[in-house]
Amino acid sequence: MKKVHIKSYGCQMNVYDGQRMADVLGGEGFEETATPDDADLILLNTCHIRERAAHKVYTELGKLRELKQARKADGRETTLVVAGCVAQAEGAEIQRRQPAVDLVVGPQAYHRLPALLAEARRGRVVDTDLPPDDKFGHLPAPKPAAILARGISAFVTVQEGCDKFCAFCVVPYTRGAEFSRPVAQVVAEVERLAQAGVQDVTLLGQNVNAYHGEGQDGRVWGLARLMRRLAEVPGIARIRYTTSHPRDMDDELIAAHRDLPQLMPFLHLPVQAGSDGILAAMNRKHTADEYRRLIDKVRKARPDIALSSDFIVGFPGESDADFEETLRLIEDVRFASAYSFKYSPRPGTPAAELETQVEPALMDERLQRLQGLVERHRQEFNHAMVGRTVEVLLERAGRHPGQLAGKTPYLQAVQIETATHRIGERVMVTIERAGSNSLFGRAAGQPDLAA
Ligand code: SAM
Ligand code: SF4
Repeated sequence: MKKVHIKSYGCQMNVYDGQRMADVLGGEGFEETATPDDADLILLNTCHIRERAAHKVYTELGKLRELKQARKADGRETTLVVAGCVAQAEGAEIQRRQPAVDLVVGPQAYHRLPALLAEARRGRVVDTDLPPDDKFGHLPAPKPAAILARGISAFVTVQEGCDKFCAFCVVPYTRGAEFSRPVAQVVAEVERLAQAGVQDVTLLGQNVNAYHGEGQDGRVWGLARLMRRLAEVPGIARIRYTTSHPRDMDDELIAAHRDLPQLMPFLHLPVQAGSDGILAAMNRKHTADEYRRLIDKVRKARPDIALSSDFIVGFPGESDADFEETLRLIEDVRFASAYSFKYSPRPGTPAAELETQVEPALMDERLQRLQGLVERHRQEFNHAMVGRTVEVLLERAGRHPGQLAGKTPYLQAVQIETATHRIGERVMVTIERAGSNSLFGRAAGQPDLAA
């Protein structure tokens, strides 16, 4: 059998795309390998969101060129493919910078991989059209064994692209306009996953709460209605969704957090900044207080919900006072976790043209302060779990023999010592200790092994 090595960078949507590309290539006789050294086909599934992410790809390609040459000296051919958002944004430029690349394929074209690989054998190819046809309708379903090998938690992309055009962001250019998969197609995929043993699904989209897919009654369904339908799929115990935009957080979706037991009490809702001036310059289309009020509403519907967010520090024109507003918002909301980034100018985005770029040293300082504050809140949130008994879905072997690892409803990693439980079980666990990245607990009713 031929071997393929897929390396995905960036967001969870790329992880999902990488899996679907593996499914497409599985139909062409490729099996996956964890290392590039023995791969006949190496595919980099790239990310363009920040400069560093894009830069990493070229560094990696340089190494792979050497590997390709070494394999050739041994009489083995290697096909090198660049997929994902760098492929979309830079197209033929990639092959100009790194001629060892055989094929450049954008995120909307990977269902055409077999035909493109055949073409690549006759000469180098670039396919970065953003075609209107539905790639999801053309993708082969993964085999039950492949699903299980990926674990009992799965990602399912339900929405792609973005029409919001935040001033800093490349997504509308690399992933194209908003598109929602039809409900029936998503249900069929989730049913297949559940039949193979998946219990926990995370619905993905660049703007997942803008979901507006064709429903099973021919009408347009929003995300809340889609999740209510998925909650009926036998075996699906946990549902999450990411990433959401505050403007699309409607009342129906908030009510789902109150009413739908399978919908986990966790919400990732990026705000980016806490200053109204910066939010306006970012084209986020809401104020900091509107965000605070939204959070109040969500907490009223589901008081124990864990909140998470994304922040950008050093957006052009961000003053000390603007930054203090961001810290104030973080203090007010107290997130259970958050991602934070230094602003990175992206070619083709309006913010990259602004002349008020913030000094790198100041960005470093602000990022450190912001991360320190978020980390304090994260630790407080995790320590508050000690003594509580929560349901944990056991997902995999733990760090040490005799341990199993899983997640709380609040998306915290938990390790338990157990000789009797199995992966796939949902157990009530009493949390005994909070480490820096994991909680440690004991299945309720189980004797204290250390006593
Ligand atoms: N759709 C989501 C939203 O509305 O916030 C975000 C999707 S984006 C893939 C993930 C995160 O990357 C953003 O929330 C933002 O914090 C960060 N990001 C995007 N463009 C960036 C840039 N030019 N510089 C730094 N961070 C950026
Ligand atoms: Fe990018 Fe998210 Fe803004 Fe869309 S809503 S442009 S994906 S940051």
